[in-house]
Amino acid sequence: MTLAPDARAVRRLIRWFDREGPDLPWRRTRDRWAILVSEVMLQATPVQRVLPYYEDWMARWPRASDLAGARLGDVLAAWQGLGYPRRARNLHAAAMVVADRGWPHPDRYEDLPGVGRYTADALRCFADELPVLPEDVNVRRVVARRFPDGWPGAPRGRAWHAGQAMMDLGREYCRARAPLCDAGCPLRAGCPAADAGVVDQVTPRTRRQARYEGSMRQRRGFLLRALADDGRVRASRDLEAAESLVAEGLADRRGSMLVPAGSGR
Ligand code: SF4
Repeated sequence: MTLAPDARAVRRLIRWFDREGPDLPWRRTRDRWAILVSEVMLQATPVQRVLPYYEDWMARWPRASDLAGARLGDVLAAWQGLGYPRRARNLHAAAMVVADRGWPHPDRYEDLPGVGRYTADALRCFADELPVLPEDVNVRRVVARRFPDGWPGAPRGRAWHAGQAMMDLGREYCRARAPLCDAGCPLRAGCPAADAGVVDQVTPRTRRQARYEGSMRQRRGFLLRALADDGRVRASRDLEAAESLVAEGLADRRGSMLVPAGSGR
């Protein structure tokens, strides 16, 4: 059987991954809970920063039912430093659903709180090994540049490897800025974007991250850190940020004080 060039490229990519793909803790498991935790943490946070959080988290709450029984305030305190605490609240809510009703059918992962298309596809591919390519911003970029006719699919039984390999390639070689096309990219041979010299032009646009310094994100982060450290903080320290945390269920009010979510009642 003669393989199409793109299908051959996918095989090459998997061989590269088999040789060089880093050993990461969430790659040693197909447990749905472990995959969900890692995927939620990896959204918007780099791998090296996630690693110690993931290890601590899984040691403390190895199953969804363990997290479901935890207080939200403790969950948010453990998340402190990873950013975007809404992710922790959603993970907690998803754990409660799973503890209560079990995992939904893979077609229905999007029913879990905070689980969108990408995370659902990641569960399908990295936990269930279904033939799906989870497309985060890195993978979308590789597809646009290297497979402009669309993802050709992975060989039977290799969807997990292809998905992980695409993640690594997007992070290490096919980067948004200064891609390493001619510095070892394993998919350089036959790459349409690199051959045509149009790599930048076929890079999907991403939203610019808003400035962190002085932002509401930063102000909310200060309050959450103080809550994790001291257990309570005066809401008047930053009323606007305090109200926004309460409105989102990330903290509670007790009189003039802000207290960890779940402890104010
Ligand atoms: S050759 Fe360049 S554009 Fe093509 S896949 Fe590799 S890094 Fe991306």
